[in-house]
Formats: sequence, structure tokens, C-alpha cells
Amino acid sequence: MTFEDIKQNENKYMMHTYGRFPVALVSGRGAVATDVEGKEYVDFTSGIGVNCLGYSDDGWAKAVSDQAATLQHISNLYYSPLQTEVSEKLCQLTGFDKVFLCNSGAEANECAIKIARKYSFDKYGKGRQKIITLQNSFHGRTVTTLAATGQDVFHNFFFPFTEGFDYAEANNIKSLKEKLTDDVCAVFVELIQGEGGVMPLDKEFVDAAVAMCKEKDILFMVDEVQTGMSRTGSVYCYQSYGIRPDVITSAKGLGGGVPIGACLCDKKLSDVLTYGTHGTTFGGNPIACAAAKEVLSRITTDEFLKSVNEKGDYFRSKIAKMGNVEKITGMGLMIGILTKKDNAKQIASKCVENGLLILTAKNMIRLLPPLNITYEEAERGLNILKQVMEDE
Ligand SMILES: *Cc1c(COP(=O)(O)O)cnc(C)c1O
Repeated sequence: MTFEDIKQNENKYMMHTYGRFPVALVSGRGAVATDVEGKEYVDFTSGIGVNCLGYSDDGWAKAVSDQAATLQHISNLYYSPLQTEVSEKLCQLTGFDKVFLCNSGAEANECAIKIARKYSFDKYGKGRQKIITLQNSFHGRTVTTLAATGQDVFHNFFFPFTEGFDYAEANNIKSLKEKLTDDVCAVFVELIQGEGGVMPLDKEFVDAAVAMCKEKDILFMVDEVQTGMSRTGSVYCYQSYGIRPDVITSAKGLGGGVPIGACLCDKKLSDVLTYGTHGTTFGGNPIACAAAKEVLSRITTDEFLKSVNEKGDYFRSKIAKMGNVEKITGMGLMIGILTKKDNAKQIASKCVENGLLILTAKNMIRLLPPLNITYEEAERGLNILKQVMEDE
């Protein structure tokens, strides 16, 4: 099959929900992917922050294939030592008390939303169901997580959306304060807005939000789907902010390339979701858990986190020296670049032609390289980026 065959069949048989780059990827190793015609690409995307150990990492591939050859699925009618190991590890790493395992970021966020509403219902009764998110946020594609997403473009076509969401301005304490009326049960934020353009929240705003929530028994919940799993240089980004949320959600990098999500909650919320109030067929699937167990054992050591921060600094220092760079944002290996010519999309297309995969988010270039990328791979990709930035 040639690329053109694949493209035609995609057009013929698949719903047209994605704008794709003109590349069909078939294999990969480390931070380098290969397309159907044998061309190589350095990958600074990790499949949008998923492949934290790069492509076909030996330890990860062995964990997944051994588990597939041992026990692939059992349903949640039975106990699973892999589920308990992954949950225990997540609790140990964070100090959270309980975990719910699911299959995606949107599902983890649905779980957080259900916890917030039921916690409030159990304690205060009906009428305290509103959740405040931030303008320019992204929380997923289900009808409810679209409603949670604070961008008007996502609030179209699929009416009626789930009620009970309102949007405060990011980094505006006054705006958030005004939204915290008596019907609010939770505030739900990304600490660095990923899809929104790698926009970090100010520490001052976050501290004020946590304090205001605490005062009114409003849950402070953090969507760590993109910022989590050591991406920003700590296991979860909230740890760098020095705060303690009531709930966090995780997915993307958690399985290193297989679908798994998690919702983690503080002790006071441990008994909110009870028997029969939540569930999923695939959640905590043994193959997904075997992958997550491997990922968690590899990317959470002090040494590994130090290397993520050092690589982040290396990327930033190289990028700062490129022509056409206006501003660099993000933390660790979550990197946003605003270009002087405001031409992120053109640069992304040109990079693909030149053998480099990068992402954009709004008008920013966004880089989410594998966390174990080598300096050699990084340099190879950064040389392409530099060339394209200077030519375009
Ligand atoms: C990607 C993302 C989601 C959605 O995750 P899916 O696995 O696509 O459902 C939610 N929140 C944030 C912050 C994300 O980056």
C-alpha cells in the first residue's frame, strides 16, 4: 500500500473528524517514527503526550506482550493484582487515598465531575451542582466534558449540553471569586492549559483559588491529563505548584501508548462513589495496567525527573537561540513556542516535509517529546526545527 492508497481509503471509510498531516506511520523506535514509504521522522509529539517512553521501548513492549499472552481481560467482576499495584503506586506517589481506573482523559474527567456533584449532593442536597472551569480550557469530547471545556467553539451542534458549568477567566482572581456562588461544588482547572496554547496558570492565582475553595468546601480539582506523568518535571504538575488538590485526573502518558485513565481523590472523597454509582467494562484492563505499571516504575524516580528537567532546559536554551522565537512557555518537556511571525501552522507543515513531527495548540507551536528522548535525537529534531524556523 502506498500513502495515496491509505489516504483514499481513510477518506472512503472513516468519518472525517480529523485534519491529518500527509503521513502514514507504520513503525518507530525511540523518538523516531517511520512512514509507509520508509521515510524517518524525529517525533516531538509522543502521540500527543502519550508515548512517554518513545516508540516500542523494550521494557514496555515486553510488559504489554507478556501480559497479552497471560491474561488480556477479566472484567471488573473479579479482583486484579495489576489494578491494585497500579492504584497503590499512584497513591504512594501522590498521597491521594483512592483511585478509579478508566480508559481516557475524558472518562477520568467524567469521574471527577461525578465525584464533585455526588460529594455535594450527599452533604448539602440538591442545588449545589455547578462546576467552574476556566476560559480557554480543554477537558474532553464527551457531551459533558465539552460543556466543561471553556471555549465557545466546542459548544455547538450537540445541544443540549450538560448543564451546570460556568467559566472564569484564567489568572483573574476577581473573575473566579465572582463565580463562586452558593451553587458551586467544584473548581476544575488545567495548571498549564495544553490545547489552549501551553498557557500556565500563575502561582498567585492558583493559591488564591485553592484558598477560596477551601473556605467554602468547594472541591479544587486538577485536570492533569496532559501535564501529568512526569511531563512537566514532577510526577504531577500540582506538585510543582506546591498545592494539594482534592481530585486529579490522569491519562495520556499513563499507559505509555495503550488507553488508560485514572481519577485520584483525597480521603474525604474516598466513599463518594459507591457500589453501582460508577463503572466501566475496560477500566483497569490487565494489558493497560501492565503498561501503566511499567511506565510508573520507570518515569517517577528522582533521577528520571531530574533528566526530564535537564532535557527541558536543553530544549529551551536551543529554541531561545532560533530566529523567529517570540516567547517560550510551559514546564519540563511540555513546551510552547510563540513565533514572531505567528506562523505555527506553516512551521508544523514544513517540519513534516523535513522529517520532524511537532504539534500546534492555538497559535503556538507545542512540543511534547518522549520523556526518555536522547540528546542525539533531540539535537537531530532541533536542527530541523531551527532550519524551518529560519526559512519560513
Ligand atoms: C487530551 C486531554 C483530555 C482528553 O483526553 P482523551 O483521552 O482524548 O479523552 C482532557 N483534558 C486534557 C487537559 C487533555 O489534554
